[in-house]
Amino acid sequence: MKEIIKNVYHLGDSGCSVYLVNSQSEDGLVLIDSGMSIDLIKRISKLGLNANNIKHCILTHFHIDHTAACSDLKNLSKQVKFYAHDLDADAIEEKGHDSKTAASWYGVDYKPIKLEKRLKGDLENLQLGIYEFQCIHTPGHTPGSISVLVEVESTKILFGQDIHGPFYKSFGSNLEDYQKSMQRLLDLNADILCEGHFGIIKPASEVTSFIQRHMNMNRP
Ligand SMILES: [Zn+2]
Ligand SMILES: [Zn+2]
Repeated sequence: MKEIIKNVYHLGDSGCSVYLVNSQSEDGLVLIDSGMSIDLIKRISKLGLNANNIKHCILTHFHIDHTAACSDLKNLSKQVKFYAHDLDADAIEEKGHDSKTAASWYGVDYKPIKLEKRLKGDLENLQLGIYEFQCIHTPGHTPGSISVLVEVESTKILFGQDIHGPFYKSFGSNLEDYQKSMQRLLDLNADILCEGHFGIIKPASEVTSFIQRHMNMNRP
């Protein structure tokens, strides 16, 4: 559990890395993915924060390692609103997509949650408190994968959860889309990359080489 930069935290890993932004407003706390365990989320009390104040949760894609704790989170913080891209939304809102979401691999009984909003198109911005969360459609790993860019004190932080892959037919992966998506992320020149399974990558030169390395490993 550590502060990456003012108001931005890496809570640790439960299935995936879970990140939190304190919006410093009535929009409360914003999670990027829920991970698999509500216990990890509850531990923000160690940071002096209250899990009941999590009011928004942006889901980067439909995989179970990023979403399994959502229903428990809803029970804990009734006011929490979930967001995901339209192309991944059905598997988050409905039962019966267990090979897509990898719930069957993990042996998890996924409990669906209702989204506040289905993000559409190439880019949607969510203004939450003092921060703008740019939700960028970056298909490849899954059809509705998004990456989230937030600028904090002139530092560009990119939450690019599964930009390393993997890529499977059952996920609806597409390597041509992936190449275009990664080029789009390179063009952002982010200072810090918060990755789903590789933790925090910085400075900007390391972010660029991380993305380029995975692009090269995953040519169509
Ligand atoms: Zn994934
Ligand atoms: Zn993942």
